[in-house]
Amino acid sequence: MDAELSITTIMRHAEMVAHGTEIVSSMNDDAIHRYTYADAFRRCRQLANALDALKLSADARVGTLAWNDYRHFELHYAVPCSGRICHTINPKLFLDQIRFIIRDAGDEALFIDPQFLPLIESIQAELPSVRHWIALCAQSELPTSSLPDLCSYESLLAAQPAEFDWPTLDEQRASGLCYTSGTTGNPKGVLGCHRSVVLHGMAQNMASCVGLTPEDTVMPLVPMFHVNAWGMPYTAPMAGAKLVLPGAHVADASRMVDLINSEGVTYSLAVPTLWSGINNYLEQSGATVSTLKRGVIGGAAGAMRLYEDMDRHGVRLENGWGMTELSPMGSYNRILDRHQDSDTEAGRSQRLKSGQPLFGMQLRIVDEDGNSLPHDGEASGVLEVRAPWACSAYFGAGQEHTWFSTGDVATIDPNGYLQITDRVKDVIKSGGEWISSIDIENVVMSHPGVREAVVIGVSHPHWSERPLLLIVPEEQQELSPHLILKFLQDKLPKWWIPNACEFVDELPHTATGKVSKKSLRDLYTHYQWP
Ligand code: ADP
Repeated sequence: MDAELSITTIMRHAEMVAHGTEIVSSMNDDAIHRYTYADAFRRCRQLANALDALKLSADARVGTLAWNDYRHFELHYAVPCSGRICHTINPKLFLDQIRFIIRDAGDEALFIDPQFLPLIESIQAELPSVRHWIALCAQSELPTSSLPDLCSYESLLAAQPAEFDWPTLDEQRASGLCYTSGTTGNPKGVLGCHRSVVLHGMAQNMASCVGLTPEDTVMPLVPMFHVNAWGMPYTAPMAGAKLVLPGAHVADASRMVDLINSEGVTYSLAVPTLWSGINNYLEQSGATVSTLKRGVIGGAAGAMRLYEDMDRHGVRLENGWGMTELSPMGSYNRILDRHQDSDTEAGRSQRLKSGQPLFGMQLRIVDEDGNSLPHDGEASGVLEVRAPWACSAYFGAGQEHTWFSTGDVATIDPNGYLQITDRVKDVIKSGGEWISSIDIENVVMSHPGVREAVVIGVSHPHWSERPLLLIVPEEQQELSPHLILKFLQDKLPKWWIPNACEFVDELPHTATGKVSKKSLRDLYTHYQWP
């Protein structure tokens, strides 16, 4: 049968098999909001009626500036299932980027968490496409604002009936739009479609990958504005799993640990910085997270020490690699019994691999001339992918690729395990050879006195570029740059050892919580080698 793969089918499935399963949201005012999938999808029908009442065009882009909570979840369904495009905007981007993104997308309506109203008010006059402004709150919480006819989300819904005939949609119809943070140039839009969301969710949830069941409770710490919380608003209902949406305070580890314990969270998703915050809190407070068994660490490489520390807390971290252009997941390192021997060097390096491709994701590595390289775990090249949920062209750009060049540098071993060693723009080119900044950072992070470490390439008169190591030391540690460089001597190839190490108080982070190597490269352009 030619039955369409649409987000509407995810909604209908969850309504049937998990109608009483909960979605729990931690709200900005500390309150806990709790309702079921049945309640959520009833409100989605009200919201779809409201979108029609606002006379949004059939393929309107509808922008959101919101945290992970139930109203944002509802937008992830009512907008695409009524045929429109849910455009999640990262509120942590620079104002210029936010202005650019809303204008580029041509958003017709903006759904805004009250916290972000001042930000949008400051650029409102420069957003000509936006006709409707909706604050994500109850009528009684609606702040005074200069936004024209700002209305509350709850008053918009209250006026609408809970019946709506979801249209049958072409599965190739666009459903979601997300911009990459644009470390160089303007952010670029990645448009997903109904089919890509469904296929990504099915592949992501295979037992060899995330593998959620109705017995799981999932809490994505990664925000919905960062590629749909890595798919969870769709994958959790597909699996019939309970969903916990942690709101704005994801960096407050004590609060997150309380939420894990009170809701019985079994699986979570976060970038290394947030896992590290949870680990530090558990160490310092003595608190436990007995229900939390597994989690994915992704968005950037995590250090082995963090995996081992979380093992001691009973949480098995699994490396997942992906990017906005892949909706986002590309590979996953599910820990198998035969990999449990993490005390050996082989076991540890297996654990740090970026995983095997999801079913449906083809991978290859190529040299500078585009020739395919062997999958021997040694040859390293630029990673290219092909999948039904990979982006064929950026939003508004014409050229379509058959293979998408990720801009990541990787090796692939004979068992199909991928290892990301760098980004093309972060790789250090020393005397014509490539040095992997991620590999050096991993070794540096195994030193107990190091809190955060980053390696960047800085121009060098003889070698063209050499590695510079920047470190945020742990407090109360007797440490010096000299001791750190000495520590690396027998752990890395001689020519990979950074030429210098500098201690810093903090490192700059991007809007998605990763260390910003670009800002550091700018800062250290004229660095004088010792
Ligand atoms: P941006 O960081 O530009 O906002 P993304 O969030 O899409 O964009 O980041 C994608 C990039 O993050 C990948 O191309 C890769 O370099 C890096 N990345 C993602 N997951 C991992 C991982 N598990 N290990 C190493 N690098 C990763």
